[in-house]
Amino acid sequence: KVEKADEAYFDSYGYFDIHRTMLGDKVRTEAYQRALEGNPSLMRGARVLDVGCGTGILSMFAARGGASQIAAVEGSERMAEAAQSIIEENQLSSSQGGPISVVSGRVEELQALPMQQVDVIVSEWMGYGLFFECMLDSVLHVRDRFLKPGGAVLPDRATMYIAGAGPGALDLEFWRDVYGFSYRPVQAQLLRDGLKTAHVTPVSADDIVTAACELQSFDLTSMTPQDAEFNAHFTLQAPASATGAAPQEVHAIVLWFDTEFSPRFCKEQSVVLTTSPHAPQTHWYQTVLQLRQPLAAQHSAGAQQPGQAILQGRISCARGGEHRCLDISLECVGLDSKGQSIGE
Ligand code: SAH
Repeated sequence: KVEKADEAYFDSYGYFDIHRTMLGDKVRTEAYQRALEGNPSLMRGARVLDVGCGTGILSMFAARGGASQIAAVEGSERMAEAAQSIIEENQLSSSQGGPISVVSGRVEELQALPMQQVDVIVSEWMGYGLFFECMLDSVLHVRDRFLKPGGAVLPDRATMYIAGAGPGALDLEFWRDVYGFSYRPVQAQLLRDGLKTAHVTPVSADDIVTAACELQSFDLTSMTPQDAEFNAHFTLQAPASATGAAPQEVHAIVLWFDTEFSPRFCKEQSVVLTTSPHAPQTHWYQTVLQLRQPLAAQHSAGAQQPGQAILQGRISCARGGEHRCLDISLECVGLDSKGQSIGE
């Protein structure tokens, strides 16, 4: 059953529209470009493994950055063929004396690489909410098999963040008045259904009503697949600009992530790829978890002070019952100005 489901996963990467979306995401693609082309001390002469090369873009950046041997592995057969043509079109294929060899197949099933070990592993494995798709497992698998001791993983660090958002993040206002008609039943149904699933949607920075807090951080050079399943506590504070402002209700919890090409390996040019709502949007948008009821409403306590804790909770993240899905569970309580619970 898993085999079948995985076939569907790789099939979905066999069409150009999904690659168009990723390549057209400049925040994403330029972050990799800067890391791969802007760090000659890492890349010059390096042997590189590109995990899930898609159209081959990261391998071609690595070639421009000075890498001498690049294995571009792609699990979708159709896309591996496309990558081969694109790489030949750009005179970068090993068959033309260039540095890139395309390998069609899943990295887990590789018998051998054109090189014994690699100096650098690069991959764009991130899914919605960071771990959706579970592709990171494949990267860690080849890291342990082919990366030389002390070799680089690009990106080398990932961090998840969390913040509270107002009602705008739920995007339910639309249904209040549709061409003069009330669609309240739809609103009510979406509110009920919304408790069961996370929503991937762009959240405006204006809808974030708490300070952001780091939820969990991962070192890609040393973490294990089990580390991606975690349970983390968080405290959300009133934002820095809250002085005197009326306390805002928190209707939803918003998750996002950064990945970092840190100075550990990227000495000339380190790069942070952020999917924060406070930065330009990417195709990952943000992940929104709706609360059962709004929390941190104004009670008798008066205005919030910046830094005052207004919400406390716990999030756990685990591989889902469904193939390549994630189970996220969230518990949280709203706090009044004395730190007492005002609901959960
Ligand atoms: N590197 C490209 C594509 C990223 S999308 C870019 O940055 O534009 C991820 C790609 O990895 C998809 O094409 C998918 O088919 C491939 N992939 C995912 N898991 C894989 C695995 N285990 N082995 C080989 N390829 C994989």
